[in-house]
Amino acid sequence: MKGETEMDYQKPKGTADLLPGTTNVWEKVEAKAREVFRQFGYRGIRTPMFEDYHVFSRNVGDTSDIVEKEMYDFHDKGDRHIALRPEGTAGVVRAYVENKLYGPEYPKPYKVYYMGPMFRYERPQYGRQREFHQIGVEALNNESPQIDVEVIAMAMTLFKQFGVPNVKLVINTLGDKQVRKDYREALINYLKPHYDELSKDSQERLYKNPLRVLDSKDEGDKKIVEDAPSILDYLDDESQSYFDQVQALLKELGIGYEIDSNMVRGLDYYNHTIFEIMSDSPVFGGGYTTVCAGGRYNGLISQLGGPEEGGIGFGMGVERLMILLKEENPDFAPVDKLDLFLASADDKGDNLAFEILNKVRQQGIVADKDYSGVKVGKQIKEAFRRNARYFAVFGDREVSEGQFQLKNAATKDTVDVKVADFVADPAKYLK
Ligand code: ATP
Ligand code: MG
Repeated sequence: MKGETEMDYQKPKGTADLLPGTTNVWEKVEAKAREVFRQFGYRGIRTPMFEDYHVFSRNVGDTSDIVEKEMYDFHDKGDRHIALRPEGTAGVVRAYVENKLYGPEYPKPYKVYYMGPMFRYERPQYGRQREFHQIGVEALNNESPQIDVEVIAMAMTLFKQFGVPNVKLVINTLGDKQVRKDYREALINYLKPHYDELSKDSQERLYKNPLRVLDSKDEGDKKIVEDAPSILDYLDDESQSYFDQVQALLKELGIGYEIDSNMVRGLDYYNHTIFEIMSDSPVFGGGYTTVCAGGRYNGLISQLGGPEEGGIGFGMGVERLMILLKEENPDFAPVDKLDLFLASADDKGDNLAFEILNKVRQQGIVADKDYSGVKVGKQIKEAFRRNARYFAVFGDREVSEGQFQLKNAATKDTVDVKVADFVADPAKYLK
């Protein structure tokens, strides 16, 4: 019976426990991603899970939902305003600037990847959590359509490597500062007459950040936005040429894409190329769901105190990738297997099994033994449950004879092996 002072402890809303059976898939995803990143010249970076609040909220004009509504922020015991990171880019750029990684001794672009938890105070739903995970990359200190396409190609390669090739690439451009300014005005002029029909959120955004109205999930807003002017009609020569080059390079690499001129970004520092990788898998409940989102940010590095340089990156939502992977490539992660399972019939045998186990593990054999002391039959069942390729039972007799029977779980073949011979070269017997 429960005492009065006891309570049921539960994980915080919007978080998840990842248990064995799931973690093996995550670990394989991470391993594959690292492989691809290394191939493309990206190296790991690990920045703090929390930062000074202002790393994410840099100016009062920042009107993204992520910064305005979704941030987990608090004052610590030293009265510092801290925020749990809602995304990876700002922290990476902060580290880049603080460590002066733009110096002449460093490669250009400076290419890094990260994987880890992000925190947003959102309404939890399928594929949307308060603690979630992203695998992301940044290519800093460079402005070239080739790098944009490299980053996109790398993201597409990841999906191929994960065995979920049925995703589509959608791109857009946000032009440069002037383009955004001109377009902003045109968009406000278009939206103003519809003010009363817009959702409350969009009414708020209309003057602060009208581009965000394009991103609205409200059905009424979506209708209005359909006929909005397109940013593509406001590109200056340079932005147009940049976008053209990106498209030409994508074609050259045979990477199919769509253009969605209404696609914008939840964070305000993006310009030129932005992209999303989307899935229409029915597991997401209809329509397209974004699994990976990225883009170029040419103002962010200087905003965080660094030089006037550009960068581009993406963040892939791991939880959504997992949903997709489970549906489209359920056999992605190998089932756990053992080379050898050691069972025992009595204490003496158990001691010998423990000794052998530790010796064969030193030689790279994946092995385990029974620790429960249950009947031999149950131990052997456990060997099968653990997918052991071989198993053996140790008792008094095996100890006194210095010899045991090694059983092949699949063929049921049995061979007599001397303990000394076996531990000298276990691989020879576990073929
Ligand atoms: P959405 O429009 O779905 O809220 P977003 O624009 O806020 O997405 P980004 O900031 O671009 O998302 O993050 C990149 C990716 O991270 C998303 O495409 C998604 O896969 C994932 N992601 C974002 N927020 C969450 C969340 N709360 N839970 C799980 N995954 C998330
Ligand atoms: Mg969001």
